[in-house]
Amino acid sequence: MHHMTLAEIARGLADKKFSSEELTKVLLARIAQLDPQLNSFISLTEDLALSQAKAADARRANGESGALLGAPIAHKDLFCTQGIRTSCGSKMLDNFKAPYDATVVAKLAAAGAVTLGKTNMDEFAMGSANESSYYGAVKNPWNLEHVPGGSSGGSAAAVAARLLPAATATDTGGSIRQPAAFTNLTGLKPTYGRVSRWGMIAYASSLDQGGPLARTAEDCAILLQGMAGFDPNDSTSIDEPVPDYSASLNGSLQGLRIGVPKEYFSAGLDPRIAELTHNSIKALEKLGAEIKPISLPNMQHAIPAYYVIAPAEASSNLSRFDGVRFGYRCENPDNLIDLYKRSRGEGFGAEVQRRIMVGAYALSAGYYDAYYLKAQKIRRLVKNDFMAAFNEVDIILGPTTPNPAWKLGAKSSDPVAEYLEDVYTITANLAGLPGLSMPAGFVDGLPVGVQLLAPYFQEGRLLNVAHQYQLNTDWHTRTPTGF
Ligand code: GLN
Repeated sequence: MHHMTLAEIARGLADKKFSSEELTKVLLARIAQLDPQLNSFISLTEDLALSQAKAADARRANGESGALLGAPIAHKDLFCTQGIRTSCGSKMLDNFKAPYDATVVAKLAAAGAVTLGKTNMDEFAMGSANESSYYGAVKNPWNLEHVPGGSSGGSAAAVAARLLPAATATDTGGSIRQPAAFTNLTGLKPTYGRVSRWGMIAYASSLDQGGPLARTAEDCAILLQGMAGFDPNDSTSIDEPVPDYSASLNGSLQGLRIGVPKEYFSAGLDPRIAELTHNSIKALEKLGAEIKPISLPNMQHAIPAYYVIAPAEASSNLSRFDGVRFGYRCENPDNLIDLYKRSRGEGFGAEVQRRIMVGAYALSAGYYDAYYLKAQKIRRLVKNDFMAAFNEVDIILGPTTPNPAWKLGAKSSDPVAEYLEDVYTITANLAGLPGLSMPAGFVDGLPVGVQLLAPYFQEGRLLNVAHQYQLNTDWHTRTPTGF
């Protein structure tokens, strides 16, 4: 039962082959048995799951249908869940029970999805390895000595290990696409503004975007359908109609113009990943796509710009965690200043503190123009590169990551080495564009992903290309040994 995709589950439930309650019990037992190896969950919500599953079964018995009605999922632990711990992977929020549901959580619950739990993540979504979590590192089911990617490493490891078919995640600089690549999943970061950020604990507000992590493009279409849409509670949510993503899967790729940026194939790229990327290009050419070399000349400036903008926004967003309003408070403060200092010093981990300091520095009088403003100008150049490229091509293709998943601990003492691993993913966040990572092969037994980028609101095009690729390849069907 645990091998089924969301699409297969929906068919099985509709055909009354099993109930949502039966499936939920199977998956909860599987999580109890296997998750101790992976550490992919921070909290399990068994009671909620069983009551939601029973309610979904009752709705089906009353004649209701829907692809998510009775489908088991989990939420990255930065989506607020009413009455349930929402930790953001931090000691700061270890005791925080959200007073309301995030829009994404509420929409999926209304569609009948069953919440099995809250998944592990890098603290405040800062990281590319899921090693900065207060709740400990997550292990990659493909090799337990390797990282699953981050920051949505818990969602990725759980879905890859077949503990559940799909999960929500968020992507500020690659946190959906990079863990998807490292664990052989399909992950989609939507256009900025497509999915509501209301009730999603903020890291860098102009970059953060929620999206689906699943095993197939078909399942990403189902989960995105339940997440996307205008939300008056989020001032950056965009009032655009949501297309039928599942209906977009079957378009022909004949004549599709795929741009391949020459800057992607530079010295930093593992040559074995370059080869697998070229193989996926050939597979898409066979399906009728045309390949065009393109250039993204400002790509080299994207990492420095991102690692100024994201910490700047984080330093502002995280100022609310002051030991007074919510979350952790230090013991026996001497006075108010001591309370602020010690609550933040004890509640935040090292990477979060580093980013707050970098961000506060970049925003300070005297440095603002040199760092923050300069980074914003680079951001515009990165966007302009994409706008020029999308005049020539329909989609941009390249590797998702320069290297496969590294060993646990290999980069944790060198933050810059870890930042450099985000080179292919962060440009989409700077520009606000949608991006998808799909499985494209293996290197030393570790999965490799290929990334597709599309113009604003063309999530359907990304899903279409990925689905057609998956109908003609079997990388996405491979299962990690032991799971
Ligand atoms: N690795 C990037 C960072 O640490 C991206 C994280 C994310 O997308 N949340 O900021």
